Amino acid sequence: MTRTAWRGILILLVVGAVSSPAAIAFIRQWQPDTIVKGPGVTRVGKLSEYFEGIKGTANDPDYYLLEGKEPGGTIIVWGGTHPVEPAGYLAPIVLIENVRVTKGRLFIIPQVNISSFGNTKIGMGDVDHFTIATPFGSRKFRFGGRGTNPIHQWPDPDVYTNPTTRQSLAGEESRNFNRVHPGHPRGYLTERLSYALMQMIRTEKADVGIDLHEAPPDRPLVNAFAIHERAADVASLAILNLEAQGIKVRLEMSPKYLRGLSHREIGDHTQAMAILMETQSPYHGPLRGRADEANLLTAKDPFLVLASDMGRTSVKHTKEGVSIHLRTARHVTSIVEVANALTELTPERGVTIEGAPPYDAMVKGGIGAYLQQPPAGDQRT
Ligand SMILES: [Zn+2]
Repeated sequence: MTRTAWRGILILLVVGAVSSPAAIAFIRQWQPDTIVKGPGVTRVGKLSEYFEGIKGTANDPDYYLLEGKEPGGTIIVWGGTHPVEPAGYLAPIVLIENVRVTKGRLFIIPQVNISSFGNTKIGMGDVDHFTIATPFGSRKFRFGGRGTNPIHQWPDPDVYTNPTTRQSLAGEESRNFNRVHPGHPRGYLTERLSYALMQMIRTEKADVGIDLHEAPPDRPLVNAFAIHERAADVASLAILNLEAQGIKVRLEMSPKYLRGLSHREIGDHTQAMAILMETQSPYHGPLRGRADEANLLTAKDPFLVLASDMGRTSVKHTKEGVSIHLRTARHVTSIVEVANALTELTPERGVTIEGAPPYDAMVKGGIGAYLQQPPAGDQRT
């Protein structure tokens, strides 16, 4: 063999040795999180039941149905639009593992853009997972990326134009599940996922669709509901009842010309009333301190406290932070109050959710007390 060939083999071996640990770390992120089927779950299925175009792809998430004995309305809740916003997918998991529905139907998709849970930016210093302490030990959850994994949708266009709204954005937004709505049956994988969700909302004649997020305090929409105009009555009544419990929520109307987002397109393209909920989490924002697990779980961030004192944040960020327990509790209680408001305003289309963990208990005692113990042998905890 020539010297050049030996040199080539040596370079390949060095590249292999350097890249293998990174490859192993990325592949580990494909392992799904454990979600325990709670006492109220009446069916578990795949979103592709509503649209074949995502069947067999990396973006066919599970849904959980909780159906009451008494007929009523239908609410569809999804978390994990952005898997960098952990309370957005912990709240659906707390609901799945605890609540019962006695009237109407509650569909929950805990990790809707399931592909993006494997798109963690480990190279940018993000944690790949976090743990929640429970009475039986701890539960581990993945921390993902903001968009669909590029190994499942590639390459990005230079400019992404939403096929329905014709609004143009940066190319990588073609993988952002909250910019591609209302989706397209023959579009990018993320657009097909959106189309599948729209088909579910239409087929199940959902009264309300709820999209769960978290936002950094330097963004304008924090601790708020962004709503389609048709959701104004239900959301306002829910917010009044949340306020009575000491939970302050700002009501923000969806701007008519900000397109591709769930609160606009689901309201415009389906019969459902669309509500997007935001809590306060600095971890994935541009202004933040060290992005470690403690920051993710507590939001204690001296850098943001300084930014807040300088008037650079839309909401106050104090040294007490905003714990993951409080953020998850806000989402859980907000969903229950939207269901209560729907029942109060349209009793024949009401949804009654029972057994949700009390807000104060989640805030003070932690959500770990409301996470179920996975079956023996589950290696993912
Ligand atoms: Zn988000």
